[in-house]
Amino acid sequence: MSELQLRKQIIATALRMNGLGINRGKSGNVSARWKAGFLVTPSGLAYEKMRPSDIVFVDAAGRATGRREPSSEWRFHHDIYRARPESMAIVHTHSSFATTLACLRMDIPAFHYMISVAGGNTLRCAPYATFGTQALSDGALAALDGRKACLLANHGAIAIGADLESALALAVEVEALCEQYWRALQIGKPVLLSDAEMEIVLEKFKTYGTAVQGHGQPRRTRQPLKGMKR
Ligand SMILES: [Zn+2]
Repeated sequence: MSELQLRKQIIATALRMNGLGINRGKSGNVSARWKAGFLVTPSGLAYEKMRPSDIVFVDAAGRATGRREPSSEWRFHHDIYRARPESMAIVHTHSSFATTLACLRMDIPAFHYMISVAGGNTLRCAPYATFGTQALSDGALAALDGRKACLLANHGAIAIGADLESALALAVEVEALCEQYWRALQIGKPVLLSDAEMEIVLEKFKTYGTAVQGHGQPRRTRQPLKGMKR
């Protein structure tokens, strides 16, 4: 894929976040690994107005190149690409249900087997830190340890993927799970799946690949990328 194609894909992914209802206004951001750094949506520009030349390149040292400033959240994108070689794309949202639960600063437990789509038996919530800070990035990386998604306290959610499509699909899944958990909490105390059951589910997810999908049909197995941690 050319750099121009990737820049267009980033904009298309950002626009799809709006269409899918997981973003409103300019709050989220999208990035994809490119060469030794990454391409990221700029700060403070509506996705509808975004052109490929507005996408900002940030190099391995964290230096931005482009006619605009990178998203104020560029730092955690930078740190995730450095720490997680398997991550090729990142979608960050302030989607409503994920953010609602993140405001309670709670990990989402295994109330549904699909929690394992993020790679574990909980969806962790990173501690609160001011947006754009190193502290926020450090907390996010810790919450993402062994996981492909996390919540950010009083802020939103992060989803990472092997490409833009899978990062976006995971962000949608996280929002759906948070909505379901929130709804279940309205009428009772959700019954949690045991660690033993979640082990089985996690093993099945490994066997079937990493694509985000519910039950019902066989998964398209994805080949792990080089250096991908399992
Ligand atoms: Zn944010």
